[in-house]
Amino acid sequence: MMQRFYIEKEIGPSGVTLPKEILHQMKSVLRMKPGEKIILFDGSGYDFISEFDGEGAKVVEKVLNRRESERKIYLFQSVLKKDNMEWIFQKGTERGIFPKVHEVMDFKKALEFVQEERLSGVIADPNSKKHISETLKESKMALFVGPEGGFTEEEISETKEHGFKAVSLGKLQLRAEPAAIVASAFLVS
Ligand code: SAH
Repeated sequence: MMQRFYIEKEIGPSGVTLPKEILHQMKSVLRMKPGEKIILFDGSGYDFISEFDGEGAKVVEKVLNRRESERKIYLFQSVLKKDNMEWIFQKGTERGIFPKVHEVMDFKKALEFVQEERLSGVIADPNSKKHISETLKESKMALFVGPEGGFTEEEISETKEHGFKAVSLGKLQLRAEPAAIVASAFLVS
C-alpha cells in the first residue's frame, strides 16, 4: 500500500516541495528510495499519486478520493470537556476532505440550522427502541449527540417536533465521544 502524506499547502499540477518533517519521515523513518510512489493530499478531496525523487515529489496522477462518502454528515456534538471535544474532532475527521468546524451554537440555533440546510435529523438517544441501522440514510444528515449527562426529555421531544428520528446505538450506554464516532460511522457507511 502506498503511504499517504498530508501537505498543508495546496498541491499544484506539477508537484510540491516536501516539508522537512515529511522528507525526514520518508527518508529516515520509512527509508523510501527515489522512484517509489506515494500519495499526497491537501484536503481538497483529491489524491495526488506522486513519485518520490529523493528531495521532492512529482505528481503523476490526480484522482478523486473515492473513499469519501457521498453523504454529508453534520455532527452536532454537545460541548464536552476540551480533551474529549478534541478527540472527536480528531477521530471524526480522519478523511480526505477537511470538515468545517462551526462556532458553538445553542440548541435552538442548531435546530434552526438543520431546518435551513434541509438536513434530515437524527438524535442519538439511548432510550430509543429504534436502532440507528434502521434509519433511512439521506444525502445530508444532522446527527445530535448529547453531553455527559445526556439530553433532557424536552430536548428530545423538541427535535422530534422538528422531524428528527431518535435512534439507539444498542443496549450499551456509551460515553459521548465514542457514541459520536460510532453513530457517524453508521451514517456515512
Ligand atoms: N446518562 C446519559 C448518557 C449520556 S451519554 C443518558 O442517560 O442519556 C452521552 C450521549 O451519547 C447521549 O446523550 C447520546 O446522545 C449518546 N449515546 C450514548 N450511548 C448511546 C446509545 N446506546 N444509544 C444512543 N445514544 C447513545
